[in-house]
Amino acid sequence: MKQALIVTVVLFVGSVFEVSADSEQLRKIPDGLVVLTFDDCNKSDRSFVAKVLKEHGFGATFYVTEGLGFLRNKENYVTWEEIVELDRMGFEIGNHTKTHPHMPRLSPQQMRNELLHIEKRCKEHKIRRPVTFCYPGFGHSLACVKELQQLNYLFARRGVGPEFKDGGRGGRGPAYDPEVDHPLLVPTTGYAGPDWKMEDFIWAISKAREGRIAVLCYHGVPAREHPWVNCDPEDFRKHMNYLKKEGCTVISMRDLALFVDPRKGPADPYEPIRARGKRGK
Ligand SMILES: [Zn+2]
Repeated sequence: MKQALIVTVVLFVGSVFEVSADSEQLRKIPDGLVVLTFDDCNKSDRSFVAKVLKEHGFGATFYVTEGLGFLRNKENYVTWEEIVELDRMGFEIGNHTKTHPHMPRLSPQQMRNELLHIEKRCKEHKIRRPVTFCYPGFGHSLACVKELQQLNYLFARRGVGPEFKDGGRGGRGPAYDPEVDHPLLVPTTGYAGPDWKMEDFIWAISKAREGRIAVLCYHGVPAREHPWVNCDPEDFRKHMNYLKKEGCTVISMRDLALFVDPRKGPADPYEPIRARGKRGK
């Protein structure tokens, strides 16, 4: 069992305080711990995916944005009423920004506005305040990490790169290692698309061991407007059945806090990414 640890944080010059992070209250990360995430508010979130997840007793996060086609096409995107239903069903509603911009291009104030807009919309619909984030188009930056820190976000999910080459049509990425990775730069271990096959899915799950976690990213099942990140419903059922058969623990990003202390992380959030790149993954 891990020892309770004392983390010393230097806030300002000459100002030191101690945060007692009692890691004994955290659960041990089991082998087969899998995080499921669904980006972009596709209609299938409510009409198909939620039902399948409930059948299996799995948790998941739905990352909400009012960008892409959300405001103009309610045939392909969920409504806020459907997002409320997902929240009431016990799933996590995460923040995916107001307009789905490339975050590194924005000023800190613009980033903040993007984040606060979704928080406001959640509040209007009596949905719990989002505490996790996912970077639109997988674009992240140190400035964005800092903005998320200031707004008290616990975890944020990025894509599979730069450690893994991303062809933009689904693919493999690093397993999340909470002993190494910054909680606001959690990598995607696999994302669905035409180039992500069953063997790639099984590979991602095989990495969820010895303290590491497989973080999966889906878009629509199917993704009607974005075929390059499509997942066929039949394949999705196969994936979920595989997780069940393997006895995986399947959770939302928010529930990572049961296993991982989100206050811990490298002083330089990008150091683990650079180190992994040098090691060859
Ligand atoms: Zn997105």
